[in-house]
Amino acid sequence: MAVALVVAAGRGERLGSERPKALVSLAGRPMVDWSVEALRSVAAVKEIVVALPAQALAAAPAGTVAVAGGEARSQSVLAALRRAGQGDPVIVHDAARPLAPAELFERALEELARSGADAVIAAAPVSDTVKEVGEDGRTVQRTLDRSRLWAVQTPQVFRRATLERALSEVSEEVLARATDDAWLVEYIGGTVQVLDAGPRNIKVTTPTDLRLAELILADRHGSIG
Ligand code: C5P
Repeated sequence: MAVALVVAAGRGERLGSERPKALVSLAGRPMVDWSVEALRSVAAVKEIVVALPAQALAAAPAGTVAVAGGEARSQSVLAALRRAGQGDPVIVHDAARPLAPAELFERALEELARSGADAVIAAAPVSDTVKEVGEDGRTVQRTLDRSRLWAVQTPQVFRRATLERALSEVSEEVLARATDDAWLVEYIGGTVQVLDAGPRNIKVTTPTDLRLAELILADRHGSIG
């Protein structure tokens, strides 16, 4: 049986709210509630641990285990993993992606079991052309081959032993720099596979993203268009 870790301990300053981002209202409910609700309907998930800012633990959705997050995202994942029972595999999900449907979590778990990879991660093929700039921040150094580029998201699902090793073997400095946990698995030599999440698993960072997420939810529930 799987355990799900929802990381919701970020400050979310770019959203311009006093509240932590995960608790900002999305279509009338705290943002974190949407992912927790989707995870609750995934049969394989037996426990949901939510990492929140230390002063906001009381905001954990009913039936979840609350834990104080860390300074950096991966430190929040580590804190949640330490608090989780024996569930394996481990689903890691950002509260900032409230639109991930139950079906996406299920597909990721199925693909992990089927593929033999150490991790399976939600992602989207890149549609823009991507260029790398030099140290001056504007002069193009090279253009990357778009056909092989994927923008990485969550959920990310892991074999528990691999994630535990990845989070414990790397230095504090590497942990603080990691913007996703799959990178840590790559870092220790594990295999990671992408899974096409479709176009709607957006990350809410700015007020515009929040409005877009509300539109997508309204569309899903049949009230627009
Ligand atoms: O900052 P960013 O948007 O990349 O954060 C992604 C996710 O990680 C968010 O859901 C955020 O709440 C969470 N996070 C966390 N602990 C941190 C930083 C971010 O749980 N220290």
